[in-house]
Amino acid sequence: MNITTLAVPGIRGLTPYQPGKPIGELEREFALERIVKLASNENPLGASPKALEVVRRILGASHLYPDGNGFELKAALAQKLGVEPAQIVLGNGSNDVLDLVARVFLAPGRNAVYSEHAFAVYPIATQTAGATGKPAPAHDGSRGPRFGHDLQAMLERVDPDTRVVFIANPNNPTGTLLGRCELHSFLAALPEHVIAVVDEAYFEYANSPDHPNALDWLEEFPGLIVTRTFSKAYGLAGLRVGYAVSGREVADLLNRARQPFNVNALGLAAATAALEDTGFLEATVQANDAGLRRLEAGFRKRCLDFIPSAGNFLSFDLGRPAAPVFDALLREGVIVRPVGNYGLPNHLRVTVGTTEEIDIFFAALDRVLGS
Ligand SMILES: *Cc1c(COP(=O)(O)O)cnc(C)c1O
Repeated sequence: MNITTLAVPGIRGLTPYQPGKPIGELEREFALERIVKLASNENPLGASPKALEVVRRILGASHLYPDGNGFELKAALAQKLGVEPAQIVLGNGSNDVLDLVARVFLAPGRNAVYSEHAFAVYPIATQTAGATGKPAPAHDGSRGPRFGHDLQAMLERVDPDTRVVFIANPNNPTGTLLGRCELHSFLAALPEHVIAVVDEAYFEYANSPDHPNALDWLEEFPGLIVTRTFSKAYGLAGLRVGYAVSGREVADLLNRARQPFNVNALGLAAATAALEDTGFLEATVQANDAGLRRLEAGFRKRCLDFIPSAGNFLSFDLGRPAAPVFDALLREGVIVRPVGNYGLPNHLRVTVGTTEEIDIFFAALDRVLGS
Protein backbone atom coordinates (compact mmCIF):
# COMPACT_ATOMS: atom_id res chain seq x y z
CA MET A 1 0.00 0.00 0.00
CA ASN A 2 1.45 3.34 -1.06
CA ILE A 3 0.04 5.75 1.53
CA THR A 4 0.74 8.73 -0.76
CA THR A 5 -1.96 7.57 -3.18
CA LEU A 6 -4.55 8.05 -0.41
CA ALA A 7 -4.02 11.82 -0.43
CA VAL A 8 -6.16 14.02 -2.67
CA PRO A 9 -4.46 14.78 -6.04
CA GLY A 10 -3.67 18.42 -5.19
CA ILE A 11 -1.64 17.41 -2.13
CA ARG A 12 0.22 14.62 -3.93
CA GLY A 13 1.72 17.10 -6.40
CA LEU A 14 2.67 19.64 -3.74
CA THR A 15 6.05 20.62 -2.33
CA PRO A 16 5.90 22.38 1.04
CA TYR A 17 6.61 26.09 1.49
CA GLN A 18 10.31 26.65 2.24
CA PRO A 19 10.71 29.12 5.08
CA GLY A 20 13.86 31.09 5.77
CA LYS A 21 16.46 29.04 7.63
CA PRO A 22 15.92 29.46 11.38
CA ILE A 23 18.87 30.79 13.41
CA GLY A 24 18.76 27.72 15.70
CA GLU A 25 19.20 25.38 12.74
CA LEU A 26 22.35 27.17 11.58
CA GLU A 27 23.68 27.19 15.15
CA ARG A 28 23.29 23.41 15.26
CA GLU A 29 25.18 23.01 11.97
CA PHE A 30 28.14 25.34 12.42
CA ALA A 31 29.87 26.80 15.45
CA LEU A 32 29.39 30.51 14.75
CA GLU A 33 29.92 33.48 17.01
CA ARG A 34 27.23 35.64 15.52
CA ILE A 35 24.39 34.86 13.18
CA VAL A 36 22.60 37.52 11.17
CA LYS A 37 19.24 36.42 9.76
CA LEU A 38 18.05 38.46 6.81
CA ALA A 39 15.93 35.71 5.35
CA SER A 40 12.28 36.24 6.30
CA ASN A 41 11.56 39.96 6.02
CA GLU A 42 11.27 40.30 9.79
CA ASN A 43 11.49 43.73 11.42
CA PRO A 44 15.11 44.42 12.47
CA LEU A 45 13.86 46.76 15.22
CA GLY A 46 11.92 43.90 16.82
CA ALA A 47 8.33 44.42 17.97
CA SER A 48 6.58 47.43 19.41
CA PRO A 49 7.48 47.65 23.13
CA LYS A 50 3.83 48.44 23.82
CA ALA A 51 2.73 45.21 22.19
CA LEU A 52 5.30 43.23 24.18
CA GLU A 53 4.17 44.82 27.43
CA VAL A 54 0.56 43.74 26.80
CA VAL A 55 1.69 40.19 25.99
CA ARG A 56 3.57 39.95 29.30
CA ARG A 57 0.57 41.28 31.16
CA ILE A 58 -1.95 38.78 29.78
CA LEU A 59 0.31 35.72 29.66
CA GLY A 60 -1.21 34.46 32.93
CA ALA A 61 -4.62 34.17 31.27
CA SER A 62 -3.32 31.63 28.76
CA HIS A 63 -5.77 28.97 29.99
CA LEU A 64 -8.65 30.97 28.49
CA TYR A 65 -9.75 30.71 24.88
CA PRO A 66 -9.20 33.86 22.86
CA ASP A 67 -12.13 36.00 21.71
CA GLY A 68 -13.12 34.02 18.62
CA ASN A 69 -14.55 37.14 17.01
CA GLY A 70 -11.53 39.32 17.75
CA PHE A 71 -13.88 42.14 18.78
CA GLU A 72 -11.27 44.61 20.03
CA LEU A 73 -8.77 44.15 17.23
CA LYS A 74 -11.47 44.38 14.57
CA ALA A 75 -12.88 47.52 16.18
CA ALA A 76 -9.42 49.11 16.26
CA LEU A 77 -8.70 48.12 12.66
CA ALA A 78 -12.12 49.30 11.46
CA GLN A 79 -11.56 52.68 13.05
CA LYS A 80 -8.08 53.04 11.60
CA LEU A 81 -8.99 51.87 8.10
CA GLY A 82 -12.40 53.51 7.81
CA VAL A 83 -14.33 50.28 7.29
CA GLU A 84 -16.93 48.32 9.30
CA PRO A 85 -15.79 45.47 11.59
CA ALA A 86 -18.08 43.17 9.54
CA GLN A 87 -15.76 43.73 6.57
CA ILE A 88 -12.74 42.31 8.41
CA VAL A 89 -11.67 38.68 8.66
CA LEU A 90 -8.78 37.93 11.02
CA GLY A 91 -6.24 35.24 10.28
CA ASN A 92 -3.39 33.33 11.88
CA GLY A 93 -1.09 35.47 9.77
CA SER A 94 -2.36 36.69 6.41
CA ASN A 95 -1.26 33.31 5.10
CA ASP A 96 -4.25 31.85 6.91
CA VAL A 97 -6.54 34.32 5.14
CA LEU A 98 -5.05 33.45 1.74
CA ASP A 99 -5.73 29.81 2.50
CA LEU A 100 -9.31 30.65 3.54
CA VAL A 101 -9.87 32.40 0.22
CA ALA A 102 -8.73 29.29 -1.61
CA ARG A 103 -10.94 27.01 0.48
CA VAL A 104 -13.98 29.20 -0.01
CA PHE A 105 -13.67 30.02 -3.71
CA LEU A 106 -11.51 27.28 -5.26
CA ALA A 107 -12.19 23.58 -5.94
CA PRO A 108 -11.37 20.97 -8.60
CA GLY A 109 -12.44 22.32 -11.99
CA ARG A 110 -11.76 25.92 -10.96
CA ASN A 111 -8.54 27.84 -11.38
CA ALA A 112 -6.58 30.72 -9.91
CA VAL A 113 -4.41 33.16 -11.84
CA TYR A 114 -1.22 34.65 -10.44
CA SER A 115 2.08 35.93 -11.78
CA GLU A 116 5.37 34.19 -12.35
CA HIS A 117 7.76 35.01 -9.44
CA ALA A 118 4.75 35.76 -7.18
CA PHE A 119 4.48 34.82 -3.52
CA ALA A 120 4.79 31.04 -3.11
CA VAL A 121 1.68 30.66 -0.98
CA TYR A 122 -0.67 31.30 -3.94
CA PRO A 123 0.15 28.10 -5.84
CA ILE A 124 0.21 26.11 -2.59
CA ALA A 125 -3.22 27.36 -1.45
CA THR A 126 -4.63 26.82 -4.95
CA GLN A 127 -3.36 23.27 -5.23
CA THR A 128 -4.42 22.38 -1.69
CA ALA A 129 -7.97 23.32 -2.67
CA GLY A 130 -7.73 20.95 -5.64
CA ALA A 131 -7.86 23.81 -8.13
CA THR A 132 -5.49 24.53 -11.00
CA GLY A 133 -2.92 27.33 -10.84
CA LYS A 134 -2.48 29.42 -13.99
CA PRO A 135 0.72 31.42 -13.70
CA ALA A 136 1.14 34.32 -16.15
CA PRO A 137 4.64 35.26 -17.33
CA ALA A 138 6.06 38.33 -15.61
CA HIS A 139 7.27 41.41 -17.49
CA ASP A 140 10.47 40.80 -19.46
CA GLY A 141 11.37 44.47 -19.19
CA SER A 142 10.03 45.60 -22.57
CA ARG A 143 6.57 46.82 -21.47
CA GLY A 144 6.94 47.13 -17.71
CA PRO A 145 9.45 46.67 -14.89
CA ARG A 146 11.34 43.42 -15.40
CA PHE A 147 10.09 40.61 -13.08
CA GLY A 148 6.95 42.65 -12.22
CA HIS A 149 3.38 41.39 -12.64
CA ASP A 150 2.18 41.69 -16.26
CA LEU A 151 -1.50 42.49 -15.67
CA GLN A 152 -2.38 42.15 -19.34
CA ALA A 153 -0.91 38.64 -19.41
CA MET A 154 -2.81 37.83 -16.22
CA LEU A 155 -6.09 39.09 -17.66
CA GLU A 156 -5.57 36.94 -20.74
CA ARG A 157 -5.39 33.85 -18.55
CA VAL A 158 -8.74 34.51 -16.87
CA ASP A 159 -11.41 32.14 -18.20
CA PRO A 160 -14.95 31.11 -17.17
CA ASP A 161 -13.51 28.71 -14.54
CA THR A 162 -11.26 31.31 -12.92
CA ARG A 163 -12.50 32.23 -9.45
CA VAL A 164 -9.48 33.90 -7.88
CA VAL A 165 -6.71 36.21 -9.05
CA PHE A 166 -3.83 36.73 -6.60
CA ILE A 167 -1.81 39.94 -6.81
CA ALA A 168 1.01 40.79 -4.41
CA ASN A 169 1.62 44.52 -4.27
CA PRO A 170 4.49 44.95 -3.75
CA ASN A 171 5.39 41.41 -4.66
CA ASN A 172 7.67 39.17 -2.65
CA PRO A 173 10.43 38.25 -3.58
CA THR A 174 10.77 40.79 -6.42
CA GLY A 175 9.69 43.92 -4.52
CA THR A 176 8.01 45.18 -7.71
CA LEU A 177 5.07 47.54 -7.29
CA LEU A 178 2.03 48.09 -9.50
CA GLY A 179 0.89 51.70 -9.84
CA ARG A 180 -2.55 52.97 -8.86
CA CYS A 181 -3.99 53.45 -12.34
CA GLU A 182 -2.79 50.16 -13.86
CA LEU A 183 -4.05 48.16 -10.88
CA HIS A 184 -7.40 49.94 -10.90
CA SER A 185 -7.86 49.32 -14.65
CA PHE A 186 -7.06 45.67 -14.16
CA LEU A 187 -9.63 45.29 -11.36
CA ALA A 188 -12.22 47.09 -13.47
CA ALA A 189 -11.56 44.75 -16.41
CA LEU A 190 -11.95 41.53 -14.37
CA PRO A 191 -15.19 39.64 -14.97
CA GLU A 192 -17.64 39.55 -12.06
CA HIS A 193 -17.14 35.84 -11.40
CA VAL A 194 -13.52 36.45 -10.29
CA ILE A 195 -12.44 37.29 -6.73
CA ALA A 196 -9.42 39.62 -6.76
CA VAL A 197 -7.00 39.27 -3.85
CA VAL A 198 -4.63 42.21 -3.47
CA ASP A 199 -1.99 41.13 -0.98
CA GLU A 200 -0.63 44.25 0.71
CA ALA A 201 1.69 42.56 3.23
CA TYR A 202 4.18 45.44 2.84
CA PHE A 203 1.67 48.28 2.62
CA GLU A 204 2.99 50.11 5.68
CA TYR A 205 6.37 50.62 3.96
CA ALA A 206 4.75 52.52 1.08
CA ASN A 207 6.68 55.68 0.32
CA SER A 208 5.78 56.57 -3.26
CA PRO A 209 2.75 58.76 -4.10
CA ASP A 210 1.70 56.21 -6.74
CA HIS A 211 1.51 53.36 -4.18
CA PRO A 212 -2.09 52.16 -4.41
CA ASN A 213 -4.24 51.59 -1.35
CA ALA A 214 -6.62 48.91 -2.59
CA LEU A 215 -8.97 49.60 0.34
CA ASP A 216 -10.08 52.69 -1.62
CA TRP A 217 -11.79 50.43 -4.13
CA LEU A 218 -13.80 48.10 -1.87
CA GLU A 219 -17.11 49.86 -2.58
CA GLU A 220 -16.48 49.75 -6.31
CA PHE A 221 -15.51 46.06 -6.52
CA PRO A 222 -17.64 43.69 -4.39
CA GLY A 223 -15.30 40.80 -5.22
CA LEU A 224 -12.15 42.56 -3.98
CA ILE A 225 -10.23 41.21 -0.96
CA VAL A 226 -7.32 43.17 0.47
CA THR A 227 -4.98 41.27 2.80
CA ARG A 228 -2.52 42.78 5.26
CA THR A 229 -0.40 41.52 8.13
CA PHE A 230 1.18 42.34 11.47
CA SER A 231 4.19 40.18 10.58
CA LYS A 232 6.23 42.69 8.63
CA ALA A 233 6.27 46.41 9.58
CA TYR A 234 4.52 45.75 12.90
CA GLY A 235 7.18 43.21 13.84
CA LEU A 236 4.85 40.50 15.15
CA ALA A 237 5.71 37.64 12.77
CA GLY A 238 6.02 35.14 15.62
CA LEU A 239 2.53 35.87 16.96
CA ARG A 240 0.78 35.23 13.63
CA VAL A 241 -1.83 37.90 12.99
CA GLY A 242 -3.08 39.02 9.60
CA TYR A 243 -6.40 40.08 8.17
CA ALA A 244 -8.55 40.52 5.09
CA VAL A 245 -10.75 43.50 4.33
CA SER A 246 -13.54 43.08 1.78
CA GLY A 247 -17.23 43.72 1.27
CA ARG A 248 -19.50 42.26 3.94
CA GLU A 249 -20.74 39.38 1.77
CA VAL A 250 -17.25 38.10 1.01
CA ALA A 251 -16.21 38.53 4.67
CA ASP A 252 -19.23 36.52 5.75
CA LEU A 253 -18.27 33.67 3.41
CA LEU A 254 -14.67 33.65 4.66
CA ASN A 255 -15.81 33.65 8.28
CA ARG A 256 -17.92 30.54 7.67
CA ALA A 257 -14.82 28.52 6.85
CA ARG A 258 -12.59 30.11 9.50
CA GLN A 259 -11.55 28.04 12.52
CA PRO A 260 -13.33 29.45 15.58
CA PHE A 261 -10.13 30.42 17.41
CA ASN A 262 -7.70 30.90 14.54
CA VAL A 263 -5.97 33.91 16.11
CA ASN A 264 -4.48 33.35 19.55
CA ALA A 265 -5.02 35.60 22.55
CA LEU A 266 -1.47 36.96 22.67
CA GLY A 267 -1.58 37.82 18.99
CA LEU A 268 -4.93 39.59 19.27
CA ALA A 269 -3.80 41.74 22.18
CA ALA A 270 -0.36 42.47 20.74
CA ALA A 271 -1.78 43.49 17.36
CA THR A 272 -4.31 45.81 18.99
CA ALA A 273 -1.55 47.51 20.98
CA ALA A 274 0.81 47.63 17.99
CA LEU A 275 -1.79 49.49 15.93
CA GLU A 276 -1.69 52.34 18.44
CA ASP A 277 2.09 52.53 18.54
CA THR A 278 2.47 54.87 15.60
CA GLY A 279 5.92 55.96 16.82
CA PHE A 280 7.30 52.44 16.42
CA LEU A 281 5.82 52.16 12.94
CA GLU A 282 7.33 55.48 11.87
CA ALA A 283 10.75 54.45 13.19
CA THR A 284 10.41 51.16 11.32
CA VAL A 285 9.59 52.81 8.01
CA GLN A 286 12.37 55.36 8.40
CA ALA A 287 14.94 52.70 9.22
CA ASN A 288 13.73 50.66 6.26
CA ASP A 289 14.09 53.54 3.80
CA ALA A 290 17.63 54.18 5.02
CA GLY A 291 18.45 50.47 4.95
CA LEU A 292 17.14 50.05 1.41
CA ARG A 293 19.33 52.94 0.25
CA ARG A 294 22.33 51.40 2.00
CA LEU A 295 21.72 48.04 0.32
CA GLU A 296 21.24 49.65 -3.10
CA ALA A 297 24.44 51.66 -2.73
CA GLY A 298 26.30 48.53 -1.65
CA PHE A 299 25.14 46.54 -4.66
CA ARG A 300 25.91 49.40 -7.06
CA LYS A 301 29.41 49.67 -5.64
CA ARG A 302 29.93 45.96 -6.29
CA CYS A 303 28.37 46.16 -9.77
CA LEU A 304 25.64 43.72 -8.80
CA ASP A 305 22.19 44.20 -10.35
CA PHE A 306 19.20 44.31 -8.04
CA ILE A 307 15.44 44.63 -8.49
CA PRO A 308 14.25 47.98 -7.12
CA SER A 309 12.02 47.14 -4.16
CA ALA A 310 9.01 48.72 -2.49
CA GLY A 311 9.23 46.33 0.46
CA ASN A 312 11.65 45.61 3.32
CA PHE A 313 13.84 43.33 1.21
CA LEU A 314 15.82 43.38 -2.01
CA SER A 315 16.59 40.64 -4.52
CA PHE A 316 19.99 40.91 -6.18
CA ASP A 317 21.44 39.19 -9.21
CA LEU A 318 24.71 37.30 -8.96
CA GLY A 319 24.84 36.63 -12.69
CA ARG A 320 25.44 32.96 -11.95
CA PRO A 321 23.75 30.23 -9.89
CA ALA A 322 23.15 31.71 -6.46
CA ALA A 323 22.91 28.48 -4.44
CA PRO A 324 26.69 28.15 -3.78
CA VAL A 325 26.82 31.80 -2.67
CA PHE A 326 23.88 31.20 -0.33
CA ASP A 327 25.71 28.22 1.21
CA ALA A 328 28.96 30.15 1.56
CA LEU A 329 27.12 33.02 3.27
CA LEU A 330 25.68 30.52 5.76
CA ARG A 331 29.20 29.52 6.73
CA GLU A 332 29.87 33.20 7.36
CA GLY A 333 26.87 33.31 9.69
CA VAL A 334 24.63 35.26 7.33
CA ILE A 335 21.26 33.80 6.36
CA VAL A 336 19.63 35.22 3.24
CA ARG A 337 16.95 33.65 1.08
CA PRO A 338 17.49 31.59 -2.06
CA VAL A 339 14.72 32.30 -4.57
CA GLY A 340 15.38 29.57 -7.15
CA ASN A 341 11.97 28.10 -6.33
CA TYR A 342 10.51 31.44 -7.51
CA GLY A 343 12.14 31.06 -10.91
CA LEU A 344 15.06 33.30 -9.92
CA PRO A 345 18.02 30.89 -9.67
CA ASN A 346 20.67 33.63 -10.01
CA HIS A 347 19.14 35.91 -7.37
CA LEU A 348 19.24 36.00 -3.59
CA ARG A 349 16.81 37.96 -1.47
CA VAL A 350 18.12 39.92 1.48
CA THR A 351 15.92 41.51 4.13
CA VAL A 352 16.66 45.11 5.12
CA GLY A 353 18.44 44.74 8.46
CA THR A 354 19.93 47.31 10.81
CA THR A 355 22.91 49.32 9.54
CA GLU A 356 25.21 46.96 11.40
CA GLU A 357 23.54 43.85 9.96
CA ILE A 358 23.77 45.25 6.42
CA ASP A 359 27.46 45.95 6.90
CA ILE A 360 28.05 42.43 8.23
CA PHE A 361 26.16 41.08 5.21
CA PHE A 362 28.30 42.99 2.71
CA ALA A 363 31.54 42.08 4.49
CA ALA A 364 30.51 38.40 4.30
CA LEU A 365 29.48 38.75 0.67
CA ASP A 366 32.86 40.28 -0.18
CA ARG A 367 34.68 37.38 1.49
CA VAL A 368 32.50 34.89 -0.37
CA LEU A 369 32.75 36.53 -3.80
CA GLY A 370 36.43 37.37 -3.40
CA SER A 371 37.47 33.82 -2.67
C1 LIG B 1 5.18 37.73 4.39
C2 LIG B 1 4.08 37.74 3.38
C3 LIG B 1 2.76 37.40 3.70
C4 LIG B 1 2.23 36.91 4.96
O1 LIG B 1 2.79 36.63 6.03
P1 LIG B 1 2.00 36.28 7.35
O2 LIG B 1 3.08 36.22 8.34
O3 LIG B 1 1.30 34.98 7.13
O4 LIG B 1 1.02 37.40 7.58
C5 LIG B 1 1.80 37.50 2.73
N1 LIG B 1 2.09 37.90 1.51
C6 LIG B 1 3.32 38.25 1.16
C7 LIG B 1 3.57 38.73 -0.22
C8 LIG B 1 4.36 38.16 2.08
O5 LIG B 1 5.60 38.47 1.71
